[in-house]
Amino acid sequence: MPRAAHEHLSPTSIPPLAALPAEPDVAVIGAGAAGIGAARRLLARGLSVAVLEARPRLGGRTVTTALRGHPVDLGAHWLHAGPINPLVSLGFARGEPLRRAAQESHLWIGRRPGRPAEELAFGRAWSVADRAMTDGARLNGEDRPAATALPPGLGPWGRRVALVHGLVSGRPLTEVSLHDFPSMEYGDNFFIAGGYGAYLARLAAGLPVALDTPVAALDWAGEGVRLDLGSRGTLRARAALVTAPMMVMQEPAPALRFAPDLPVPFRAAIDGFRTGIYEHVVLHWPSSPFRGRDRLASLIGGRLQPPGLLTRVDGTPFHYFELDVPLAARLDAARAGADGARRLVRETLAEQVGRGSLRDLAVPAVTEWRHDPWSRGSWAVVPPGHTKARDLLKEVIAERIWFAGEALSREQWGTAGGAFAEGERAAEAIASQLR
Ligand SMILES: Cc1cc2nc3c(=O)[nH]c(=O)nc-3n(C[C@H](O)[C@H](O)[C@H](O)COP(=O)(O)OP(=O)(O)OC[C@H]3O[C@@H](n4cnc5c(N)ncnc54)[C@H](O)[C@@H]3O)c2cc1C
Repeated sequence: MPRAAHEHLSPTSIPPLAALPAEPDVAVIGAGAAGIGAARRLLARGLSVAVLEARPRLGGRTVTTALRGHPVDLGAHWLHAGPINPLVSLGFARGEPLRRAAQESHLWIGRRPGRPAEELAFGRAWSVADRAMTDGARLNGEDRPAATALPPGLGPWGRRVALVHGLVSGRPLTEVSLHDFPSMEYGDNFFIAGGYGAYLARLAAGLPVALDTPVAALDWAGEGVRLDLGSRGTLRARAALVTAPMMVMQEPAPALRFAPDLPVPFRAAIDGFRTGIYEHVVLHWPSSPFRGRDRLASLIGGRLQPPGLLTRVDGTPFHYFELDVPLAARLDAARAGADGARRLVRETLAEQVGRGSLRDLAVPAVTEWRHDPWSRGSWAVVPPGHTKARDLLKEVIAERIWFAGEALSREQWGTAGGAFAEGERAAEAIASQLR
């Protein structure tokens, strides 16, 4: 199987795990945030659980690795939406090392810091655009691309706003549902010392998880469910909770099959999501001109612009240069791989800050979640007209198959917090059905 550029980087920790019960009440497919949240809740409700995980590690799209002695997240890093993110409230209850994300950010225009008047104009463009999109979604009955709600006349600021929204949405706003857009609540963010992936791994300690155990097929023809584990045999359970990413289950070549196939509305809901792309190019750049800890930087002016740059992560010399759909497509079209991403970053930063500032720039890691066989993308994106899919997938199939994961969350889609919350929601539904 092909390996994504980041998959050789091992996690900072794999906690001790429990053995699987022979015939559990619930088989949970996937040990990412949703699977971990669900397994914890199912056990707390007194049900027996077996978690099957395809990868040799926990956490799915959250994983922390060590680079030059520092823990660095290769997937999720921000704990978004603090007031409604269960991983924030749980973290505080457990005494985890959470800290609020800085509000300040850098504006850099044509090799110089932005002037106060420019910062003001940029801030105004953000609020005008956000209000227009929220109102557009509320007032218009028919769904349409989120880009159509962006007000004209914002000039270069408008292009920047659209670029950033396209990055954090996972696809350009021309391809994202306007109705889905305002359901995302990004404000009041946190970070966690030691990494988000390491935190999720701590939450999985003691759970009954089998690593390196992909589920090839879920057979629900008879009583309960029967999981085909390839060379590891089969596992029977009363019910299954599927937390594999939508892209992994999509036709025409799903890595997890259902036998018989899913009812038509469920199949259409899964296949209708689009692949979200958001990749980290991890920079080690001690002499970067950006000061302060954990600050976003908007580098505008110049031909090439980074869609996203998070500077001095955890107060270290590490920075994240983010890749969006157009940049990833450009790299893939040229078959440029991780080294192509390195060249692209150098070229872009040379234009934005000058080549002389890049003397000590190194790029120790590049992620390729879009080429990772167990994610096939960064998160699932709702295109115009597909908004109902998130809720439809919350329904149970034949009283024994449930879904959970980031794609089902209305308010925190595309996030680890949303995935964990969905895992807990599904676990409650399963517990009340099986009891
Ligand atoms: C680069 C990047 C940056 C991100 N940044 C943020 C961020 O800052 N904050 C944030 O909240 N979110 C962020 N996200 C999104 C976040 O990581 C995901 O939304 C979240 O982790 C998804 O959790 P999940 O449980 O739904 O899915 P996953 O984490 O993908 O878990 C599903 C699990 O199922 C396993 N699996 C798949 N198929 C099978 C099979 N057939 N059999 C067995 N196991 C299988 C997978 O290996 C995986 O472990 C980011 C994502 C990426 C890629």
